[in-house]
Amino acid sequence: MTNSLLINLKKYFGYDSFRSTQEEIINSVIAGRDNFVLMPTGGGKSLCFQLPALELPGLTLVISPLIALMKDQVDALQANGVAAEFINSSLAPADINRIQAAAKSGKLKILYIAPERLASRDFRDYLQSLQVSLIAIDEAHCISEWGHDFRPEYRNLRELRKLFPQVPLIALTATATSKVRDDIITQLKLQKAKVFVSGFNRPNLHLKVIEKKGAYSKLVTLLKKYQGESVIVYCFSRKDTEKLATDLKREGHKVLAYHAGLPADKRKKHQELFIRDEVNIIIATIAFGMGIDKPDVRLVVHYSFPKSLEGYYQEIGRAGRDGLASDCVMFYTYADAAKHRYFIRNTDDLALQAQAEQKLQEVIDFAGTKLCRRAHILKYFGESSSPLNCHSCDNCTIERSSFDGTIITQKILSTILRTASRFGENHIIAILLGKKTDKIKTLAHDQLSVYGLGKDFTDSELKDFINQLLHSGLLKKSTDQYATLSLTTAGSNFLNTKATINLNKIARDEEESKRRKAGDLDYDQGLFDKLRHLRKTLADQESVPPFVIFSDNSLQEMSYYLPTTRDSFSQISGVGTNKLDKYSSDFIQIISAHATANNLKSKAISNNKKPTAPKKIKALDRQAAAFILNLTNKKLSIAAMAKSRKLTPTTILNHLERLIDSGAQLNIDYLKPKEPIWQAISKAISKHGSTRLKPIFEELNGKVDYETIKTALLILKTKK
Ligand code: ADP
Ligand code: MG
Ligand code: ZN
Repeated sequence: MTNSLLINLKKYFGYDSFRSTQEEIINSVIAGRDNFVLMPTGGGKSLCFQLPALELPGLTLVISPLIALMKDQVDALQANGVAAEFINSSLAPADINRIQAAAKSGKLKILYIAPERLASRDFRDYLQSLQVSLIAIDEAHCISEWGHDFRPEYRNLRELRKLFPQVPLIALTATATSKVRDDIITQLKLQKAKVFVSGFNRPNLHLKVIEKKGAYSKLVTLLKKYQGESVIVYCFSRKDTEKLATDLKREGHKVLAYHAGLPADKRKKHQELFIRDEVNIIIATIAFGMGIDKPDVRLVVHYSFPKSLEGYYQEIGRAGRDGLASDCVMFYTYADAAKHRYFIRNTDDLALQAQAEQKLQEVIDFAGTKLCRRAHILKYFGESSSPLNCHSCDNCTIERSSFDGTIITQKILSTILRTASRFGENHIIAILLGKKTDKIKTLAHDQLSVYGLGKDFTDSELKDFINQLLHSGLLKKSTDQYATLSLTTAGSNFLNTKATINLNKIARDEEESKRRKAGDLDYDQGLFDKLRHLRKTLADQESVPPFVIFSDNSLQEMSYYLPTTRDSFSQISGVGTNKLDKYSSDFIQIISAHATANNLKSKAISNNKKPTAPKKIKALDRQAAAFILNLTNKKLSIAAMAKSRKLTPTTILNHLERLIDSGAQLNIDYLKPKEPIWQAISKAISKHGSTRLKPIFEELNGKVDYETIKTALLILKTKK
């Protein structure tokens, strides 16, 4: 790497290192090739053209679709001391003239332009008179009709290629489909473009699906944890957004609605208030979010069911662009899915109907899975090598404890038998809970001997048990739309032989668990709030959004390291030369005062400071870790550990994995399976890799159980 890149990275952007592929992309851009960059939202695409712009001799033109985005990006560049401007319809002619003159005289390094400008002959002639070194097309999917955000003005970009046949071009997008990707390359006539594709995983997003029952009070509880932080809540209809916004306002929240039915100026105003942290909660239909690049959205809620997984992933993609841990919570109820289905069935186009139904079913599957949600989504987007356990979705973090489930299993199976295997789980559960639904009354199911016998458990617990019985092969479900439950042969045997079974119960209520701060620094919240206040004051003085002054990440580092000298302040991520000169004294003043008042000392910022991206692994809490370590020292088997901690073997294995991933020195060689099995597993691993269990399981013809395979993988992991 050339030294000058690193120097400019710190000087202008305040960062010490590149993220994953940024460096390779930047070098390729500087070398003068055409480049195509596919990177998830928040991955750091802007830097891929902004830093080369500073290295190259002439001007970099940037095409960007949205006026608001353009302004925020230029504000941010100027705050970093980069000579950047934009030209779009929001500017007065005098300003446009001034900016055009500045570009012509070579004073500018970066010029953002709106695509419709290129329709003007005069403007094209003007552009041709400039010394252009690089052209960047941001949000490049806007050129494709196959994309979700096609903009006809982007067709003007073909003119750009004609005007500057020799100038290298970089196209950037976060849209995944290969159809759109190919279309972009064709439309822009990219020449032998180097294609950079980053994975679609967003490790800092914590995914969670909760039952919608009692949704409003659940939402209110959830929002309590995000006082003053940025939140987007997506709703089904315009009416729903208005109602929810009114209700939450009554609770004392600073909240606004946003939907396509509002007049344009009002929409703009609401967006602006959100970006400037005047209002922290936006209740929106899915239309919201296209026009903003707010980096510090900490929570995205789907208050109603998304229409497709693509839509869902894009919407939650608006959380945590700054890389800090953020939560994505989806409320799920079958009624919402039915509502969508009703709308779908009311359309005329049968082909579209079928497609929409399929998309809906994909979301239902996602909501219902008991396996890793991240793996589920990544697989959906065609990324096959998903981790065993992401440690960052509800299904991977939930703690379960095992109990003797024989009696409730007998009750569930009997209910199915007594109703002639003709019903789906909702009805079976309603009978067990002793509900008085119309269906139960009509069918006289309240006369059954099993009626009301499951009242010790909740609706969602019973659902969970049925799922486990499906998994363990005692039950099966019909594949038609009715999804009726019936007993398998094993299920009948279970009843006849009076067998016993252990089931898992969710041990602690996730709702009650503290909000996690995976990988984030354990910073001083009181100081963070003070610094946030200062940031807001400075932002208002300069009339820019607060994140232009400093990101949450920078403020967290300040509240952790407590830098009180100019030198140590300069080592904070996001502090470049310009911001050091402009802001260090204000921030240091507050940090020093806080440190003195609370008797705190600055911490040294070492050169190999933790990477700014959060660690993917949520550490096991200290007590649980000590416990497990102790048990492995005693050389307990997985089953024995599970028993002593009242957890399932799977949870124990997950704990072990977390412990190993967090760098603990662990000796679990004693868990090694017998030599022939060990050999067979090792062979299967060398063939299929160690990221997924299933292919290994299948390679071994199902003869070695998942637990043993996973144990072997963990032993190998301790050797790395
Ligand atoms: P994208 O356009 O891919 O959605 P951005 O370019 O807006 O992403 O970058 C997302 C966030 O990551 C921004 O806050 C940016 O400042 C930050 N960022 C980018 N590159 C780095 C880096 N090398 N080190 C630290 N932060 C970075
Ligand atoms: Mg971007
Ligand atoms: Zn997971």
